[in-house]
Formats: sequence, structure tokens, C-alpha cells
Amino acid sequence: MLKLRGGYNMKIEGRPGGFLDKASLPETLYLPIVSRSFNFSQICTSHGQCVVAGDILAKDPDNYDIPLLSPCSGQVDLESTTGHVVLRELSGEEAGGQVNYDDAEHAHKMGSADFEQHKLLNLGAWEYVKDAYTGQTPDPLSTPQAVIVSTIRLEPFLVRGDVLLEACLQQFTRGLEHLQSLLEYQPIYLVLPKIKTDISVKIKEHIRGYAWVKTVEVPMKYPYDNFAILARHLGFKRADGSVWSLNADGVLAVDAVLTSSKPCVEKVISVAGPGAKHPLHLRLTAGYPIAEIRKRYAQKHAVAVDGGVLTGQLLTDDTKGIPAGCKGITFVPERQSREFLAFVRPGFDRQSYSGCFMSSLRGLFAERLTNSVRGEVRPCVSCNFCEDVCPAGIIPHRLHKLIYQDDIDEIERSRIDLCIECGLCSFVCPSKIELMHEFQEAKEAITKEKAAAAKKREKEQAAETE
Ligand code: SF4
Ligand code: SF4
Repeated sequence: MLKLRGGYNMKIEGRPGGFLDKASLPETLYLPIVSRSFNFSQICTSHGQCVVAGDILAKDPDNYDIPLLSPCSGQVDLESTTGHVVLRELSGEEAGGQVNYDDAEHAHKMGSADFEQHKLLNLGAWEYVKDAYTGQTPDPLSTPQAVIVSTIRLEPFLVRGDVLLEACLQQFTRGLEHLQSLLEYQPIYLVLPKIKTDISVKIKEHIRGYAWVKTVEVPMKYPYDNFAILARHLGFKRADGSVWSLNADGVLAVDAVLTSSKPCVEKVISVAGPGAKHPLHLRLTAGYPIAEIRKRYAQKHAVAVDGGVLTGQLLTDDTKGIPAGCKGITFVPERQSREFLAFVRPGFDRQSYSGCFMSSLRGLFAERLTNSVRGEVRPCVSCNFCEDVCPAGIIPHRLHKLIYQDDIDEIERSRIDLCIECGLCSFVCPSKIELMHEFQEAKEAITKEKAAAAKKREKEQAAETE
């Protein structure tokens, strides 16, 4: 059993239930060129071209040429919507694809594991694989120290692993076998909930006899499913190479590609949050119009977030379709008016980490969040709540003060690099300080500063040798 620290479970209304719906083919798909994980800047198609499912529309040159695949047949429009590859005249014909992966000779020349990794990349499954520490796409032709597969997702309101696996356990275990075939002797860690659930019992039955799968049981507390935290606690060192990490949907994608050589163009996302009409899971393709999702599933006056409520990013009107790598859309009601004399209310309907509202007498209940901050940002009151919940073992309020003083050396010594950007410190802070965003910006500034210093050193060395 891993000994994990910090963490916090917030009860919030709007979690998706076990229902899985399928979105019908829309009239138009809008595939964003830039998503949170990828920048498909190399366009591989032309305006007016007819494509079929699996054709490569664009590639991300900074991420091992991860492709943006055409989800179905249609005609490409590169002119009408800035920042998107638009597909019109859609039809759900059989997948085609630009690469012939049934070519046995090709496989023989490349070596079987390399060939399969190429296949995962070109048929859309590699976008599900991330390095546990950096969250970046690992080199598809590398060998990791280990693989961590999680069957749980603890951030509200993302896709639940059990919903995906309920009907696909066989495909999941076959996907694990495929993953194992890409490795030499490295272990696969399978993350399961510590509590006994129907699906965890079934998974254990299915993997009985798989000596190369080690199970890791974690308490159902956010963010104990975080891959960086898990890799650290399993004893893997960042300097020793990548640790591949993927969720249940990634294993199913690996299976779909390596079992049937078909492009992986469908995904399941959650459409949830307190601003959703009926929180649910939805099977669709990248590029599905967000306006359509909003019309069918969101309440009036709700903002849309790409991802969960703690680490997601606000979707602006510039993004017209579901981005590649999207795990869920969270709708949060927009507060239309100020709460009158909110500060004198006893708060029977509110929760806080401090338990200071009257709601603490009510027992467990799911709160209905809105996008209101409920109060004003004020200085740190040294309550230590952020330190309590931080799963990385760092001291967020100390980092906050060092950032305020612009003391970069001390910020680094305080191990800002260990921050996994889970957002819990910001969530529990009674002073409403945007701690996580401060740390993201500080980490970025440190990386830039280091890169600039390295460049300067290089120049000086070059000048000396001349
Ligand atoms: S965002 Fe970083 S500092 Fe804040 S709780 Fe999470 S790991 Fe700790
Ligand atoms: S939770 Fe906020 S107010 Fe409390 S110590 Fe941390 S930064 Fe300061």
C-alpha cells in the first residue's frame, strides 16, 4: 500500500452518472489546430480535399508528429474558421487511413515492437500516452522504466474508468497484453481503487495469472490518481527516463489499433458539472461542435471548461469543436447577480475546507458551485490549509510569499518543481489566492530563465574557442 499525503475530496453537484450516450454525426466538424496538449501546426491536407476516416489532416512537429486524424469522410475546409480544420459533407463511411499497416514486410524490416509503436502513433493511440512526470508525450520509439495504467479518475467531473470498462473488459486486458509486448522486462502497474467495487473485482479476475501486472490500490481521494505522485511513490526517478502513463481509455485505444489496425477516432468524454442538464458520458469524435453540446446538454448561462473543475481551462468562443486530448467538458453556472449581504449568511448551502459554515452541521451533501468567487482576494492568513492538502509535500503559502518577493533561488530550493498542478491549494484557500496559477507561471519563468542562461553560456564558450 502506498502512503500518500494530503489530498481532499470535495462534494460538488454534477458528477456524471454511469450512462453512456452516443452523439450522432453532426453536419460539420471543427477540429481545433491548437489544444491543451498539442499544436497541429503542420497541415497535411488542402482546402476542398475529400478525406476518409483516419486520413492525417495535420501533425504536431514538436510532439513526434502526433497526427490529427480525420474522424470520418468529408470535405476539408481550411478557410472558413480560423484555427480549425473544418470538415463538411460528412459521412460515417469505413475508415481508410494513409498508411497500410497490414504490410508484413514493413513490420519485418522495422522490427515488430518499433512497427507497433509507429502504428500506435499514426493511428491515433499515442496521444493517450504521457510521461508520468512531465505530462508530455514520450518518444514512441523509446523504452520506459515502467508503465502506469490507471482505472480511476478522481478529479470531478472527468470520465469515470468504470463506465468505460464495464462493457470492454476483454479489450482492456488485451490492450494490457499489447502494451506488455512493447516492453522488455519493465513492469506495468495497474492502479485500482482501494475500495471493493464490482468492476475492480472483475478486473482482478481478468488479470489473474498476468505476473507482469502489479496492482496498486489507492484510496479514492483526489489527486491520488496523479501519475507523477504515483511514479514518485513507486520509487521511479525522473532522471532515469520516462514512465509511460495512461488511463483506461488509452489502453482501449492501444487495443483498438493493435488488434484491428483501425484508426482510433472515437472517444468518450464526460459532459458534466453543476451547469449540465443531465451529467453523462458521451461517445463522439474530436471536432464535435461545442455549440451543439451546449444546446443539448448545458443549462442556460453556464461557462464551459475543457477538463475537470480543478485543472480545466475555460473554453472561449474561439474554440468551436472538441479539441484533441479532451477528457471532458464541465459546465459551471454563471452567477447572474451578486449575493446580497453574502458575508452575513450562515452558509447552510456552502462548504469549505475550514468547516466554518453552518453546513458542517448538515452532514455530507453535494454543493452546487457557480463561477462566483464569493468574496474578495485578500492576503494570506497563514491558515495552513494549502499545506495540509498538498499531495506533493511542498508548502504552497511559503512559495506564494517567495514569488511575491521574486526570490527565484529560494523558490527553486523550496522545490516548486514537485508541484503537480492539482489545484487543491487554490481550491481550499480562504483568501482566494490563485496559488496554482502562480506556480505554473513561476515554473515557466524558471524554465525560460534557465534556457536563456544556457544559451548565453553556449555563446560565451563559442566566442572563447574562436
Ligand atoms: S497545485 Fe501544487 S502546490 Fe498546490 S496542492 Fe497541488 S501540488 Fe501542492
Ligand atoms: S490556504 Fe491561502 S490563506 Fe491559508 S496559508 Fe495557504 S495561501 Fe495562506
